[in-house]
Amino acid sequence: MSEPRRVILLGSTGSIGISSLEVIRHLNRDHTRFEVVGLAVARQADVLRAQAVEFGVEHVAICDEQAAEAVGDRTVYTGANAAVQLVEAVARPGDLLVAAIVGAAGLEAVLTAITLGCDVALANKETLVAGGALVMPLLEEHGVQLLPVDSEHSAIAQCLRSSRSREEIRRLVITASGGPFRTWDAARIRSAGVEEALAHPTWTMGRKITIDSASMMNKGLEVIEAHWLFGLPAEQIEVIVHPQSIVHSFVEYVDGSVLAQCGPPDMKTPIQYALTWPDRVEGCGPNLDWASMRNLEFESLDDRTFPSVRMAMDVVRTGGTSGAIFNAANEVAVQAFLEQRIDFGGIFDLVERGLREIPARDADRLEVVLEDDAATRAFVRDVLDTMDRRTVSSIDR
Ligand code: MG
Repeated sequence: MSEPRRVILLGSTGSIGISSLEVIRHLNRDHTRFEVVGLAVARQADVLRAQAVEFGVEHVAICDEQAAEAVGDRTVYTGANAAVQLVEAVARPGDLLVAAIVGAAGLEAVLTAITLGCDVALANKETLVAGGALVMPLLEEHGVQLLPVDSEHSAIAQCLRSSRSREEIRRLVITASGGPFRTWDAARIRSAGVEEALAHPTWTMGRKITIDSASMMNKGLEVIEAHWLFGLPAEQIEVIVHPQSIVHSFVEYVDGSVLAQCGPPDMKTPIQYALTWPDRVEGCGPNLDWASMRNLEFESLDDRTFPSVRMAMDVVRTGGTSGAIFNAANEVAVQAFLEQRIDFGGIFDLVERGLREIPARDADRLEVVLEDDAATRAFVRDVLDTMDRRTVSSIDR
């Protein structure tokens, strides 16, 4: 029996992190195929402690310094770059890093893991959106694999297994559920509330990605992610709305053949595929209910109501740090929406302003990407503060 594969899991208390541990539990049911050697979280010390005890993990990272003591008797890394410290301490060549941190916060840890010779199962799409220009050449340099966990990109990667060269591909078609606002008119969407935006019809996910799904920013981020992963220009990437979330994406070939990957909307399937790649083994997610295949619908995306994908296509064309700017503006805007400082339409406005006001530069160094990320966050927070002051003064009057 072969040695277990060592896994470092970043973001273990999030939706993808919890599903990843469920998949590992399943894959380890007969013998230990995966040994979890590191776990990283932002807060939630109690959950981290329980996970570390169950999987026998000695090294953990938690950003919240106050919570470190509650993690128990093990090596704990803390602070803003706790995940990077953890990776530096435990990663060995041939390990697998499961990157499931939300937001651009995961970029540095992913770059560190690649440099240390780890393969990466990537659920953290913001890493490629902000830092694709840094990540992709590094993979080649260190001879490691990047395995997409995002269901659409996992679908495309699976469909591409029957392709011999990039020249055979006509285009990638990424499916979108359409989110909770698919059938709403533009004015109603602009003033939608937090609870309405969090009510996703087909997927159960964390708050950030659920809001991104409602605004279609998630699809925008996924277009940029696909551009980096598969090396194709914006012109060869399309988004189509598919409310049932059964077809996870298509690859259209130059001869007219179209391959699709289907399955129930459950992240355990793409997570397991990334863990066991290039093999497939018995899964633990639900099987496809074939009756649900009877009515698969597809419709084109309404670009005027949801400008997100159009903005993302521009980001792909512009290149440089525009992905980092797009992502950072969106992260701050989503947070402001969740705090009820802006209405839903404000997310589009803030991202558009960020892209217009912050000039993109060559993304050739991590420092430049982080600088433009920080500059965008500061700019958008400034806009928000000005808006708040205006609201307060109009109430005073
Ligand atoms: Mg996705």
